[in-house]
Amino acid sequence: MKIQIISLFPEMFAPVLETSMLWKAKDKGVVEYEYINLRTYGLGPRKTVDDTPYGGGDGMLLKPEPLFAAVEHAKIQDPEAFVYLMTPRGERLMQKRARELAQEGKGMIIICGRYEGYDERITTLVDRQVSIGDYVLTGGELPAMVLIDAVVRLIPGVLGGEKSAEIESFSHGDNLEFPQYTRPEDFRGMKVPEVLLSGNHAEIEKWRQAQSGSQKE
Ligand code: SAM
Repeated sequence: MKIQIISLFPEMFAPVLETSMLWKAKDKGVVEYEYINLRTYGLGPRKTVDDTPYGGGDGMLLKPEPLFAAVEHAKIQDPEAFVYLMTPRGERLMQKRARELAQEGKGMIIICGRYEGYDERITTLVDRQVSIGDYVLTGGELPAMVLIDAVVRLIPGVLGGEKSAEIESFSHGDNLEFPQYTRPEDFRGMKVPEVLLSGNHAEIEKWRQAQSGSQKE
């Protein structure tokens, strides 16, 4: 899966995408990351990418010309890819959608907004608008990393133990994973529940099911 990220701050991505599971996915050849600096497509000698909004208002908007040029460049590299726009107005990202995108396996072109947002005309090139939650961040970079992490770890072959993705939180409706423990059995007087030490798999399964979905407020 080719993942192309359009951003004014492409340097933000490597520390996250080139670490741990996301790096392993790349190392295995399952994904390929490409960072497209929107500034490259800026206008004039100053490489301008933003302008004031028509109708007035605070802040600046990303101009359409650089955004269109960047997306068109990315499309040439991967014509089948879907274009995603990170925006608080988008569909809220859920585990179910992340799983679908991972299984679909289509390339992703991800646009990260900045400032007060973007010229609305960019949405004509966008297949999906994605929000990572009902709050506003400074830019689309962190949301894009959240989207990429949620999807890439679910691409078959990335996690290794596929079973862990099947039982983790939100894999079945909004169920949450049961509490887990590792050694030592007694840590500062806090003991591992007896049932987990019993070796009785049926009882352990029953306990886990009872505990699932009971942690969230
Ligand atoms: N003025 C916009 C609004 O009220 O919806 C917020 C703009 S925000 C400061 C700048 C950019 O950050 C957005 O264009 C978007 O790309 C990104 N962003 C901020 N919060 C986000 C969220 N919850 N989900 C996805 N993207 C977000």
